[in-house]
Amino acid sequence: MQPIVSGVSTFPGLRVGRVYLIEDPDGLTLVDCGMASAAPRILAGLRAAGHAPAEVKRILITHAHFDHVGGLAALKAATGAEVIALAAEQPYLSGAARLPLAPWEDLGPAGRIMASFMRTAPLPPPTPADRLLADGEVLPEVLGGLRVVATPGHTPGHAAYWQPERRVLFCGDAIMHMRGLSLPFAAPTGDMAEARRSAARLAELAPETVCFGHGPALTQGAAGALRTFARKVNPG
Ligand SMILES: [Zn+2]
Repeated sequence: MQPIVSGVSTFPGLRVGRVYLIEDPDGLTLVDCGMASAAPRILAGLRAAGHAPAEVKRILITHAHFDHVGGLAALKAATGAEVIALAAEQPYLSGAARLPLAPWEDLGPAGRIMASFMRTAPLPPPTPADRLLADGEVLPEVLGGLRVVATPGHTPGHAAYWQPERRVLFCGDAIMHMRGLSLPFAAPTGDMAEARRSAARLAELAPETVCFGHGPALTQGAAGALRTFARKVNPG
């Protein structure tokens, strides 16, 4: 495991999509599940760290894209964990609906290739959340109180998770950290205007540590970096 801050680490060697492990006295919490191929690696990582799969009590979902919930069905089956997400993401987790894509006319050539792929790609096995959250709801049992922050735009029910005393933010794909900070990829983002506002909402939290869905965690100067980024993508 790669430690980030006390009680929070990430699984190394996953292909796409970061997965985080939160360790609390009453058990373990995963944030997202990666692609389908990640599930056996996550279970192996847990065992290597001395944990039985049944110690995972909760799986928090940021959003229902295949690189975040591809491994969800397998991990839920292996751990018996409660799956938790924002209510607005449930239709996409349960397979009742496909996540919206960006309007075709807004996309360049590369975006159109990605959109064509996502339009027809097989969906992960439907795995509805067991517990649905509303914006602002707190999970007292996780990290001494983890608050869900609705951050729609990339997907309608995209969730970030925020620990205000320790100033740790799990931001999913609301902000990416690949080559510097960026907005999520255009093609799988149904509402980019909303995504910009969500990025600004996260910057206002002034986090000290940011755990991204893609890219390495920020543990130094995170508040300033997010503030600068949010201003750049919300000019005026
Ligand atoms: Zn995504």
